[in-house]
Amino acid sequence: MEAKVASIFKSIQGEGKYVGSLQVFVRFFGCNLNCQFCDTKLEKFKIYNVNSLKKEVSSLRVKFLSLTGGEPLCQADFLKMFLESIAKDKFKIYLETNATLYKNLKKVIKYIDIISFDLKLKSSTGGSQLWRVHEEFFKVAKLKEIFFKTVITTSTQFDDIKRLAGFLKDKLDYPLYLQPDSRYLSRRLLKKMFVFGEYLLNKGIDVRIVPQVHKFLNIE
Ligand code: SF4
Repeated sequence: MEAKVASIFKSIQGEGKYVGSLQVFVRFFGCNLNCQFCDTKLEKFKIYNVNSLKKEVSSLRVKFLSLTGGEPLCQADFLKMFLESIAKDKFKIYLETNATLYKNLKKVIKYIDIISFDLKLKSSTGGSQLWRVHEEFFKVAKLKEIFFKTVITTSTQFDDIKRLAGFLKDKLDYPLYLQPDSRYLSRRLLKKMFVFGEYLLNKGIDVRIVPQVHKFLNIE
């Protein structure tokens, strides 16, 4: 079995709860969504089999592995075989996901340690409402460590923040990271985020505002 992989590299995690952690990143090619703020619309990929991917990941000598994309769960059957093959090597496995492909998550959940659960707001992505699939995804994901993340853009509407608070009202144990759209970082956007943050905080949500640190450092 083979997978399409856009890149493999070692860097620091630039988003969410594990910001600053050294990780090996495997950026899988392809995604089932098409967010308007996407900064990883990838055009090129290389084909890997389980052994060649294992060899390249191991050569980078960091035991904290971030599966990212694109959407890694689009290639869940391969992922399952790959994760099975490195299970004895004691990697900490971090999955960065758009939290929609819950049937595929079931195939690999036993190998995952941490889930960066990206909540997609309609007014931010330009796509459709995904609350029902996010809820299904959560039922599987909650077996593992989770934190939530959502990107706030200049087009994010307050109505979606209210829906977000509704989704999180029975999930208050998990932190939520509001991430400003790096393309249009401005005082105006930050001011908007403070308003959203204050609303969510007052709903009992453990909200944090964290920009993409790797963009400031100008690294991958
Ligand atoms: S889910 Fe992620 S990779 Fe897919 S289109 Fe949206 S931002 Fe891009």
